[in-house]
Formats: sequence, C-alpha cells, structure tokens
Amino acid sequence: MTLEPGPAALAALAARTLLASRAKGFMPDDEAAALRGAAASAAPGVWLEIGTYCGKSTVHLGAVAAGQGSHLVTLDHHHGSEENQPGWQWHDQSLIDPRTGRLDTLPSLRRTLADAGLEDTVSVLVATTQQVAPWWTTPLTLLFLDGSHTEEVAQHDYAAFARHILPGGVLAVHDVFPDPRDGGQPPWHVVQRALGHGTFTQVGEHGSLRLLRRNAVTGFV
Ligand code: MG
Repeated sequence: MTLEPGPAALAALAARTLLASRAKGFMPDDEAAALRGAAASAAPGVWLEIGTYCGKSTVHLGAVAAGQGSHLVTLDHHHGSEENQPGWQWHDQSLIDPRTGRLDTLPSLRRTLADAGLEDTVSVLVATTQQVAPWWTTPLTLLFLDGSHTEEVAQHDYAAFARHILPGGVLAVHDVFPDPRDGGQPPWHVVQRALGHGTFTQVGEHGSLRLLRRNAVTGFV
C-alpha cells in the first residue's frame, strides 16, 4: 500500500519550500526542485548534507525528510567557503560577527531552521569535514556534497562520506561545471571519480546539480 501525503503534509512541504527559496544561499529554485525530487526517491534513513551555509538547501532537504521520517544531519564549520570571504565574489558583509571579525553563518541557519519548524528533523553539526570523517560510521540513504570546492577538500569529502551510502542511496553533487569557463572543476572531478569506478550511476542532471545512485557493489574506490 502506498501512503499518499495528506493535505497538512503537502501544505507543510509547500510552506517550507517557499521559505527555502527566500533564504540566503546559492541554489536556484529549479535545482532545488530536482534536489527535493531526488530526496523523495531516497529511502527513509539518515541523510547527510556537507556545506550548510545559511540553510537554504537544508530546508529544501529537511522539508522532504520531515514528510517521510528521515533525519538530516548538516555539517559545516560555519565560517564560510573561500568564495564567501571578504573581497570575494560571494561575500555577504551582514554575516560578519562583529566580535570576532569572522564570517559566522550559524545564527542565520538557526533562525531559518526555527522558522521552518525543522529543528526536530535536522541535526546541526558544527565542525570541519576533516574532524568528522574519522568517526562517522552511520550508513546513509542520501548524501549531498556542497562544501568546500577546493580540489583537496572536495575529494576528501567524497572519499570520506560517499563510502557510507547504502546501495540504492542517492549522491547529489552541487556546482558541477564540466566547462572550466562556467566554474571551478573539483566537483566535476568528484562526479567523474564516482562514475568512473562504477560505484555510482548518474540518474539526473539539473543546472549544476548532478544526481547519482549507488550501485550494489562491494568495495569503494
Ligand atoms: Mg553550492
């Protein structure tokens, strides 16, 4: 028997989607819709988002997670990526903590999650991916890679966390630009790595978002 969401669940999803589309962040609405679609196809379980920023895609994913009983962990050090720092293209002066002089996206995230009513659905993990990688053991039914886009960290994040995706689970990668004139290459290199070893199969592509599914293979490269 398939359980269809009731009117209240659909209204909650719509309200959270609208809130997410208005939140600070860097994901266009059409890519967000594709991400929600991929999440809806993922089995209930633990989902992990790498790269939270102010919570825009966190609410998109959390809206789906809340509707199907999944739990979303979102991991970020909350001091911004390279391109968010002062003098860079994607800097937002309003996110500077006046006491430390550093970027701090955590207060903005907390407000967004409270507004969305997702505090029970989302666990916020404030750390670098290098801190979490050695102890993370939880199997995942969805992983969204949207953290640092340096080659070193993008490759690290893939190697450290994609291995925990269960067969049939979803791997979503953001900011994938095969043409270097459109953007940085590390996320594209990660997708090539995932596909090249047969560990994943691509199932969707929307703007710079790539959607892959874990094959039922043993071992991980
Ligand atoms: Mg991104």
